[in-house]
Amino acid sequence: MLNPTQTAELAEEVIARCHILASFSEDSHGTRRTFLSPPMRDVHRQLSAWLEPLGAKVNIDAVGNLRALYPGAENSAPRLLIGSHLDTVSNAGAYDGILGVLIAVALLEGLQNCRLPYAIEVLGFSEEEGVRFGKPFIGSLALVGRMDQNLLNTKDAHGVSVQTAIEEFGLNPAEIGRALLQDDAVGYLEFHIEQGPVLEKLELPLAVVDAIAGQSRLEFTFVGRANHAGTTPMNLRFDAVAAAAEWIAGVERQANAVAGLVATVGSVATKPGASNTIAAEARLTLDVRHAQDQVRLSAVDDLKRQAEAVARRRGLSVQSITHMNQPAIPMDPFLSGQIEEAIGKTGCEPHRITSGAGHDAMILAEKIPAAMIFLRTPGGISHDPAESVAVEDVEKAIECGMHLLDQLAASPTWMTRTCRA
Ligand SMILES: [Zn+2]
Repeated sequence: MLNPTQTAELAEEVIARCHILASFSEDSHGTRRTFLSPPMRDVHRQLSAWLEPLGAKVNIDAVGNLRALYPGAENSAPRLLIGSHLDTVSNAGAYDGILGVLIAVALLEGLQNCRLPYAIEVLGFSEEEGVRFGKPFIGSLALVGRMDQNLLNTKDAHGVSVQTAIEEFGLNPAEIGRALLQDDAVGYLEFHIEQGPVLEKLELPLAVVDAIAGQSRLEFTFVGRANHAGTTPMNLRFDAVAAAAEWIAGVERQANAVAGLVATVGSVATKPGASNTIAAEARLTLDVRHAQDQVRLSAVDDLKRQAEAVARRRGLSVQSITHMNQPAIPMDPFLSGQIEEAIGKTGCEPHRITSGAGHDAMILAEKIPAAMIFLRTPGGISHDPAESVAVEDVEKAIECGMHLLDQLAASPTWMTRTCRA
C-alpha cells in the first residue's frame, strides 16, 4: 500500500496531467477534442508515454479507443477494465472523462510493478459526449458489439461519416469486431467527477454510484389559435403559450413532489412567435429522469394527463411524441459493495448516489459487471473551463482505488465471473 506522501504525489501528478491533456485541443482558446480529431492523436501519444514505462502494452483499437494492458501474475489472468472517456465537449473543463483515465494510470503507478491475480486494462474511450456525430458512446458501443452500419454511416457537420473518420485517422473499420470485450473481462470501474452539487453539499469527497438514471425524452405541442394581441379579449383566447406555461409550472411541481425525480422543459418554441400575436402553437421538450423506471414512467404518464387537462380546459389540443425511453441501469451490486468498503477504509462515509447523466459504465454494464465512483465537483460546475477538482479528493480516490484493487485480488469468486452473453 502507498504511504500518504506517495498518494499525495500521485494526486498532484494526476491533476498536472489533466491540464497537459486539456492543452491538446481543436481550438487555440479552450479545450475541444471531439471523436478522432487530430489532437486525439497527441493524447494517445502522451498517454502511451506515461503508460508504457509502467509495464502496460498500449493499443489503439479500430474506433480509436486507447487500451493499455497491464498483465496479471499469470497469462491466463482475468482482466479488470478501468477507464473513462478522452473526448470533450466544446469549451470543456480539464477533468470530465480524462480524470478517470488518469486515475487509472495512477493506480498502475501505485502498484509499483506488483502483479495482481488479474490483469488491468486501462481504457480511454474515443467518444462519449456525442459532439461530432450527435451520437454518444461510440467508443464503448464498439466494446459491446453495438457498432452497426447505420452508426458507421452517420455524418458529421462536414459530411464526413464515422466510417471515413475512422479511415482518415489511420484505423481500419473492418477491424471493429476486434474491439469487442472478450470472455476474460470480468468487470469495469469508472472514476468520474460528479458534475453536480450533491457531494459538495454533503461535504463528502467520494460516492459510489448505485444506478444510472433512466431517461424519458418527449416533445409536446400545444395547438391553439393565433389572433390579434390587442383586439382579442382575454376570455376569448386560445393561447398556446399560456397553456404551455401552466403545464410547465405543473412539471416543476410534480418533480418537486417525488423524491429523486428530475423533470426539465429545456426548450420552448412558439409560432408564429411575434410580440403582437397570440401564439397558435407552442412546442416543448420534456426530459424526465429517475433511478427507478416505474417512478419515471408513472411521472411521464401523469404529465401527459396534466397536459391534456390544461389543453381541454382552455379549448386547445395537445400532442406528445416520445423520442427516448431508456431504462435505468443499476450498477453491479458486488463491485459497488466493494467500493463502499474501500471508501470506508479511506476514513470517509460511503455515500450512494444515482447518476443523472449517462456514462460509458452504463454501456459496458450490458455485458460485464460495471461500477462507478464519483468525485466531488466544486460548485457542481462541469462542461465549462471552470470545472475543477480538489487534489485532496483525488488523493482519496487513489487511496480508495488501491484498497479496491487489494480487495478484489483477495476475492477469488469475483474473478471467475464471466462475460454476460
Ligand atoms: Zn464524462
